[in-house]
Amino acid sequence: MEQGKRLGFLTLCADRRFHKKAEEKFQELTGLEPEEYWIEAAAGGTPGIETAKTADYAYGHGGARLMGWAAHGDNCGGFPSVTTEEMEEKLLKAIEKRKKQYPQARHFRIFSTEQGTKGEEI
Ligand SMILES: [Zn+2]
Repeated sequence: MEQGKRLGFLTLCADRRFHKKAEEKFQELTGLEPEEYWIEAAAGGTPGIETAKTADYAYGHGGARLMGWAAHGDNCGGFPSVTTEEMEEKLLKAIEKRKKQYPQARHFRIFSTEQGTKGEEI
């Protein structure tokens, strides 16, 4: 890793409908280029990943300090029968946990639905 280089990490759902949009929003919020961050994608997105092994690697070994946490509504395969509103709540709860786990990072919430993708620093 280059000294002082800004690097990031993004967790997102594996759902093909939303990956690209989540990545574009993360890039827009952080100013990072695609090769400047790691990703972890799995069903359920941020709330669906319990161990955060990849995030630990990116933060601990890689020095990632811009961390994006994504999830989506409109039927997430990781959480069948959970509503869009409940997914947003799950994402917020998961981010609170990650903020404690990675205190030196800036954190970004990214949430997608069929209507669009929104994001903000949190
Ligand atoms: Zn999903």
